[in-house]
Amino acid sequence: MAALPAPPTLPRVRVLATGGTIAGAHTDGSRSYQAAAFSIDTLIRAVPQLATLARLEVEQVAALGSQDMNEAVWLKLAARAQAALAEPDVAAVVITHGTDTMEETGYFLNLTVPSDKPIVLVGAMRPATEISADGPMNLYNAVAVAAHPGARGRGVLVVANDEIHFAREVAKTNTTQVGTFKATHRGLAGLVHAGRLHLYAPPVRRHTTASEFSLAGVTALPRVDIVYAHAGMGRELIDAAVRAGAKGLVIAGVGDGNLNAVALAAAAAAARAGVAVVRSSRTGGGVVERNLEVDDDALGFIAADELNPQKARVLLMLGLTRTSDPRGLQEMFFTY
Ligand code: GLU
Repeated sequence: MAALPAPPTLPRVRVLATGGTIAGAHTDGSRSYQAAAFSIDTLIRAVPQLATLARLEVEQVAALGSQDMNEAVWLKLAARAQAALAEPDVAAVVITHGTDTMEETGYFLNLTVPSDKPIVLVGAMRPATEISADGPMNLYNAVAVAAHPGARGRGVLVVANDEIHFAREVAKTNTTQVGTFKATHRGLAGLVHAGRLHLYAPPVRRHTTASEFSLAGVTALPRVDIVYAHAGMGRELIDAAVRAGAKGLVIAGVGDGNLNAVALAAAAAAARAGVAVVRSSRTGGGVVERNLEVDDDALGFIAADELNPQKARVLLMLGLTRTSDPRGLQEMFFTY
């Protein structure tokens, strides 16, 4: 697809900052650094070209490395994004965020902010004080995407390394490289090169304005734990999650969401006790299908379909705000 024309007037874009390596600074001349060291004002001042794209207004919602992201900040972020987008004159929201858990935050907002205006998450792999820091260009590209009318109605997007990803599809796949983000199933949302957009096909699954989830009146989310499967797995961590009060359990299963017999018995007991058990996969790709090697119908399990464990956890937390019936929850995994 050809590059789309630039919009004729500069739109208002609200930047919600949460910290991350994009705002990171080396601490003492060594290789160690601290995430969330710079304020969003400082990051924006470092990229004067942003003034050619949009009228930016900023709000520092949090200041953390995204390994410390949690449900309370998600609820606050969703509320602040929704409030911004409800203002008729605000065209879009950009969220600066650490890359570690960006895919979870993005998918959460994709399911909970009922607006078709663009919401774009952006981060960086290199701290702002690193040689060839990737943050400034990522921020410039993120604002270019957010300010562009073609980005509307595509769900929450993630911009990094000249790529535009759907929050639902994207996963962090590398510990340090700038090309860490990959779309695991359905491909890229588009490309963005020095602010010029090339948008591809829109997303297939339901999101934002078509989502059934609402955070109205929600002050906390149900506890959902992830348990990682492996050869020789025992049942203890599954039992511990149930004892700790988990309402849902996501298994990062081997292969097609599998568990050995010992762990399977523990998961089946959890499901019988009313805990929603979702089988996802630790493989990083592919679909977990129902009733292949595991009898989901008999055991009352839910198959994660395309979602990786951390995204399955997000959907399960939201799903449990509406139902605990495994059949209803399964339908959500086929829909979102
Ligand atoms: N732990 C950091 C974070 O998620 C590093 C990842 C990054 O931002 O690139 O905030």
